[in-house]
Amino acid sequence: MRFNNIVILTGAGLSAESGLGTFRDKGGVWSEFNLEEVATPEGFARNPAKVHEFYNPRRRRQAEAGPNSAHRALARLERDFPGQVLTVTQNIDALQEAAGTRNLIHMHGELARVRCGSCGVSLPWEGDLSVGTLCAGCGMPGLMRPDVVWFGEMPRQMDRIYEALGTCDLFLSIGTSGTVYPAAGFVFEAKNTGAHAVELNLEPSEGADLFDERHGPATAVVPMYVERLLAG
Ligand SMILES: [Zn+2]
Repeated sequence: MRFNNIVILTGAGLSAESGLGTFRDKGGVWSEFNLEEVATPEGFARNPAKVHEFYNPRRRRQAEAGPNSAHRALARLERDFPGQVLTVTQNIDALQEAAGTRNLIHMHGELARVRCGSCGVSLPWEGDLSVGTLCAGCGMPGLMRPDVVWFGEMPRQMDRIYEALGTCDLFLSIGTSGTVYPAAGFVFEAKNTGAHAVELNLEPSEGADLFDERHGPATAVVPMYVERLLAG
């Protein structure tokens, strides 16, 4: 099949083989941490130090992690595919851009950025955050938070994402469990516009019966699939 317009949705399974833990799988971080405390605006208001304690080591760890062969294959797809490629990621790590992907939406925000709860400025950030961190924009202390989307907050750039889903002819879902809305509903949008839908996942996802599927580790199945797609 020939395609002109690809939307790729990526999730934790893509980065798992770069050594970054997944959030929802068995043994994922939500089995060790209370998400109400560390990943909600209310948790941050109650105990910001606890939130920083959770995200600081993750920010450090992702800075040390490198892209894997699946990230690199997707960057190559964007570069060499003759049509449009938009990647929408649920991941907050920066491994896709590190691999070279440029047309990328971080719908759940970015761990390598911080945002001020007072003036709203968003800045790239490499070090740790503390309750004493001052905002470079307005000078307020105590309100600098990871620029990520928490439970109860709106995912980013949804208009742009739905617009792309409405025009794509291939929808690729990679390393995502298919349980988290709104991303879990993207396949319905894409299929509504007549797109072909392919899932590349370690195991079948919740919505697996909607897809033409390939199963296996991302670092194995993604490069193989991209090669085939580029070969036409
Ligand atoms: Zn500020």
